[in-house]
Amino acid sequence: ADISAADVEKLNVLGHGNGGTVYKVRHKKTSLTYALKLIHGDSDSTVRRQLLREMEILRRTDSPHVVHCHGMFEKPSGDIAILMEYMDFGTLETILKADGTFSEPKLAYVARQVLNGLNYLHSHKIIHRDIKPSNLLVNRNMEIKIADFGVSKIMCRTLDACNSYVGTCAYMSPERFDPETYGGNYDGYAGDIWSLGLTLMELYLGHFPLLPAGQRPDWATLMCAICFGEPPTLPDGVSEEFRSFIECCLQKESSKRWSTSQLLSHPFLCRDSRTEW
Ligand code: ATP
Ligand code: MG
Repeated sequence: ADISAADVEKLNVLGHGNGGTVYKVRHKKTSLTYALKLIHGDSDSTVRRQLLREMEILRRTDSPHVVHCHGMFEKPSGDIAILMEYMDFGTLETILKADGTFSEPKLAYVARQVLNGLNYLHSHKIIHRDIKPSNLLVNRNMEIKIADFGVSKIMCRTLDACNSYVGTCAYMSPERFDPETYGGNYDGYAGDIWSLGLTLMELYLGHFPLLPAGQRPDWATLMCAICFGEPPTLPDGVSEEFRSFIECCLQKESSKRWSTSQLLSHPFLCRDSRTEW
């Protein structure tokens, strides 16, 4: 049965995002811990629309690779909240900051987990559109789950709308900026694969791959790098399989990018990567 807002108490803030705040909360009766994503009734309409979209998508999804939703509330005050499973190891972004860059076997494990999630979403006609290290959550069982469906399934966003979300834009694929050149038969799914490729590269390199280490992203530099530059490539010293896997994700032409099911049988993932972390 769903849990209601009055059944939980706030413990602390887990993170702030575009408009919402995520709290760690405790269910009073069972003492179980959950995460509560909350936006206030007076938030602007874009923020509200995003959380409502996220609710709609979480209502439709049921996968071990997608963060699980335990309840949703809309209060008369206009506050909206989503109660989710608590992912106690944080995000791939926080793990990268705390523990440093990922080895190839670890990345093969991460890639498999995220691809299982994307494969589920894509087969349910959901495009995530915001795959990046901070939206991939980890728990103590080393399960990695996709979270944050705030911009999922919006097929067309104008450049202006993107401009105010540079963090999100950084992982956007070339065809989202320039569908005529890179789109082919553009259906949007391949955009998630591009973002996955950048995410894995970032976890390997320790910085966002389209910019030199330490450089703060600005909109114009990013768009030029994505649309006019060559896709980023891995440095010398990586395995053939890893290099090939990243190339399959980071094709500028979206129709040349591999699909989730193709990537799940790529040699990079077929090596024995049960070593996990
Ligand atoms: P952003 O714009 O940074 O992506 P957002 O508003 O879209 O943020 P989320 O990504 O859902 O919101 O959450 C913000 C942060 O809260 C995450 O980066 C993560 O640190 C934390 N968080 C979110 N959901 C959970 C969860 N289920 N368990 C643990 N931490 C979580
Ligand atoms: Mg997020």
